[in-house]
Amino acid sequence: MAANAGTDPTRPPVADSVVNVREYVRRARQAGRKISIVPTMGALHAGHLSLIEAARRDNAFTIVTIYVNPTQFAPGEDLDAYPRTFDADRAACRDAGVDLIFAPTDAVMYPAGDQTRVHAGPLADTLCGRHRPGHFDGVCTVVAKLFGIVQPDVAVFGQKDAQQALIIRRMTRDLFLPIEIVVCPIVREPDGLALSSRNAYLSPPERKQALCLSRALNAGRTSLLAGEARDTIVARMHDVVAAELGENSAKEATDYLVAVDAETLEPATDASPAVLLAGAVRIGRTRLIDNLLVDRSASGV
Ligand code: AMP
Repeated sequence: MAANAGTDPTRPPVADSVVNVREYVRRARQAGRKISIVPTMGALHAGHLSLIEAARRDNAFTIVTIYVNPTQFAPGEDLDAYPRTFDADRAACRDAGVDLIFAPTDAVMYPAGDQTRVHAGPLADTLCGRHRPGHFDGVCTVVAKLFGIVQPDVAVFGQKDAQQALIIRRMTRDLFLPIEIVVCPIVREPDGLALSSRNAYLSPPERKQALCLSRALNAGRTSLLAGEARDTIVARMHDVVAAELGENSAKEATDYLVAVDAETLEPATDASPAVLLAGAVRIGRTRLIDNLLVDRSASGV
């Protein structure tokens, strides 16, 4: 009996070299298909799958890259502990209709003699960039490399990493890369927690505590929509986290809770057309990020 393609463990194919991935891309282009790419670090969840769905639009040949990029982790961060679940990821890609996985090794992405790095601009000086020095240079470098290897028409990212999406858009424009950047909304658990590969680190009590981040952002939105001042909005977000973690622990655990202009990431003003409420909070040893975008023109405030 013919193998069922839906459960075939050899699907989708996995390319691990530049030559290999480019050969797939060449053939797909020859068949008249556009190329789309979804860069990930694996440990795939429904958030990633929503990106894949967007990438598959117009029958584009969809490549998911799975690579835990060392240059975006600072010493002491969770590079070694980061969840690696390749077989499950491959099955999820198969079910989602992915055409190819690109899973390179460090030696492919950073071969001996490699020395060029992409430096993100001032957008990287705030929020996560302030707390993770060098992180966005690492992200820009690996994404630029992936763009150069695959040369996609479309690249899909998540609003979950709002600062990253903004910086990638900026890099693509600044370097004149002919790639359309698509940013998809945040996928959440039913109770509001944003899906993240790092949620796997949370113990059951921490999983409950983690909800304070999305709740804080929602409190910030209510405050913003009520026309309250930025300081008040921020204070209300802090209050929610403090109610969960305790005042002192909340201060220690919070990298930032801010209301910023969604385009510039500068503190939001009355003139900001859209406000990004964003936070990074450590629950136990797990650093979680989340955000809410409030379009003022649409909400009339
Ligand atoms: P990561 O594997 O964490 O590097 O994420 C890969 C891509 O998936 C990034 O563009 C993320 O912004 C996106 N992503 C992660 N979590 C979510 C989510 N909950 N909803 C939508 N996109 C997400």
